[in-house]
Amino acid sequence: MHERVADTCGWVALAGEYRHHPPLEGAQSTDWAIIGGGFTGLAAARRLAELRPNDRIVVLEGKRLGQGASGRNSGFVVANESPGHAALASADGRAAYAALHALDVAGVAALKSLVQTHGIACQWQDAPSIHAAANPRNFAKLRAHAAAFDEMGIDAELLDSDALQTRLGTGYYRLGVQSRGGALVQPAMLAKGLAESLPEQVELFENTPVTDIAPDGTITHAGGSLKAAKVIVAVNAFLPRLGLYRARVFPLALTASLTRPLTEGEIAAAPWGILSPQALGATLRLTGDRRLMIRNTAEYRPAGIDAATLASRRRIHLSALQKRFPWLDDGAIEYTWSGNIAISRNSRPAFAAVSDRIFVAGGYNASGVARGSIMGRLIADLANGEPSDLLDHALSLTPPTDMPPPPLLGFGIKARIAWERIAARGEA
Ligand SMILES: Cc1cc2nc3c(=O)[nH]c(=O)nc-3n(C[C@H](O)[C@H](O)[C@H](O)COP(=O)(O)OP(=O)(O)OC[C@H]3O[C@@H](n4cnc5c(N)ncnc54)[C@H](O)[C@@H]3O)c2cc1C
Repeated sequence: MHERVADTCGWVALAGEYRHHPPLEGAQSTDWAIIGGGFTGLAAARRLAELRPNDRIVVLEGKRLGQGASGRNSGFVVANESPGHAALASADGRAAYAALHALDVAGVAALKSLVQTHGIACQWQDAPSIHAAANPRNFAKLRAHAAAFDEMGIDAELLDSDALQTRLGTGYYRLGVQSRGGALVQPAMLAKGLAESLPEQVELFENTPVTDIAPDGTITHAGGSLKAAKVIVAVNAFLPRLGLYRARVFPLALTASLTRPLTEGEIAAAPWGILSPQALGATLRLTGDRRLMIRNTAEYRPAGIDAATLASRRRIHLSALQKRFPWLDDGAIEYTWSGNIAISRNSRPAFAAVSDRIFVAGGYNASGVARGSIMGRLIADLANGEPSDLLDHALSLTPPTDMPPPPLLGFGIKARIAWERIAARGEA
């Protein structure tokens, strides 16, 4: 019989009890409706409460607040995204990188301030980002990456194999670029803390999936309807299901695993996080409670990942971990899960007023903890007419570009993933 693995996000399982919120029922009206309770939706709700203290603000979450991608990610609060992803060769690419970088830096600062103000227990750790490679074919890319950081005034340095071995407790990686400004967190604890620290004015409803948004702001959901003066859509990978950004944004399913806590004898290093210069290379972390987390698969599976596929992804994770830590036992993985990111062809987020009533923010590829938090805040500013330089940065980004419609879309994505998998050889 084929092995099967239940989809259990380790971060969510270890985050403790979540406060429950009832579903919304009946026909109601509101000043503001926010659809989606991840980092983007929660940030939008918090900002609206600051700007509109007397308005009704309603968040509709289809499942549980903060337990979508926001609770299931790798927990890198990214300040300095890999410039390799940003097409630095063109003036437009450089301007976009600068705008996104300004947004990410503001996102990290906004999150850190909330964590401190509300005492959110989320294992927040100011930590440098380390992009590291094992395969010499990627060294030139890392050096170009360091040079680009240098040119942009981002504090960064190269790490050789000895420095990496001392830091990480594995000799697998041979060259790295370390840059400062980011952080590592337990993402589910962060998302839970953000939801639980929202002002009381914000009304939270869970298990309330939205099925339609009419141009006049009437939202149809599982429990009835909600007529909203303004609507903020923050559903990330699920935008096309609500008829928005079709063939511009699509979901990519990532899978990740978390081990049991390791002993000090097994690994003595302090917590760290490694990102790959290749899109499908492994993201790897050692957490404060000495668990290893790995994420090294990405696939186009709009229908979701079943238990047999998840079992096979767990085997891939284990083999990648054992390549780096050969002493690791076969039963070391405790949790394996999947989650969706939203991808666009030109790696730009969706951030726009779709009409004078409907506003959208989402689609940050695999870099939405800081970015989603700041863009959620800014989409509320846009909807309420609050100008700022940061809002201008967000509005300056070229929108996600068109892709072919299905089924061509599916073929194109699968071909690109196959190519990225080959490029990531030795890094996955
Ligand atoms: C495995 C994995 C690893 C990642 N690692 C990182 C990382 O280390 N660092 C980083 O910065 N980013 C990472 N990301 C990406 C990051 O998690 C996302 O960019 C971020 O969570 C986006 O936040 P969001 O609020 O826009 O979307 P989400 O967190 O996806 O939230 C959207 C919410 O909308 C809800 N929803 C969807 N449809 C409906 C509907 N019809 N009605 C009502 N509600 C609906 C969903 O249930 C969900 O709760 C990773 C993602 C994954 C999956």
